[in-house]
Amino acid sequence: SRHSLDSPSRPADVDWPGIFASDFKEGDDVEFADVGCGYGGMLFALAELHPDRRALGMEIRIKVCDYVQEKIRAMRAAHPGCYGNIACVRSNAMKQLVNYFRKGQLSKLLFLYPDPHFKRAKHKWRIISPALLAEYAYVLRPGGRLYTATDVPELHDWIVQHAACHPLFRQLSPDELASDPLTPRLVDTTEEGRKAQREGCSCLPAVFERVPDPADT
Ligand code: SAM
Repeated sequence: SRHSLDSPSRPADVDWPGIFASDFKEGDDVEFADVGCGYGGMLFALAELHPDRRALGMEIRIKVCDYVQEKIRAMRAAHPGCYGNIACVRSNAMKQLVNYFRKGQLSKLLFLYPDPHFKRAKHKWRIISPALLAEYAYVLRPGGRLYTATDVPELHDWIVQHAACHPLFRQLSPDELASDPLTPRLVDTTEEGRKAQREGCSCLPAVFERVPDPADT
């Protein structure tokens, strides 16, 4: 039903034409995923920045996901020919990412303003963790990038600490970060990022590149 978190059992079973309400041709694979996309600010930005790439938002809250799907329909109707490259599914990305994406399918994976789960006992719910980083490395292609931003300094430190020491990720240098066109958008594009800015909080971006498996080099 609509309220269960039904998910495809494997990437080959994903009904992409149904999710995007459009035909899928060879080479149309989804390449970007926005995990916990919230109200979809980054999805709409990606649709405009990369009209030739497909992006999927994954959001666990049903009403929020419904809102994003409705907004995508409205934007498509208002701007014919645009926004056909984005879609949103209701899913628990902590459990279902690998049900949607094949090994090496993604070139960008985004985690913007994730819930901080401050209490130590809840750290296991943090969306960046050693176990989940292995899954993120799996779905990202070598050279692909994992984008994060948060206004919670403690969470930023946690993310950097775990991702930077993961053998399949490398943190971008300050120069590389500055030259990625998506970097400024991590701060000013999503609803949570804008809220943090209005409240005078500083937004902390951190971006990591998926490095090749040592076994493959
Ligand atoms: N990225 C958006 C932004 O920057 O405006 C939303 C940030 S909001 C603080 C975090 C979002 O992640 C919420 O919408 C929440 O429902 C969603 N979320 C939390 N855990 C999730 C999970 N396991 N899978 C998918 N979405 C999740």
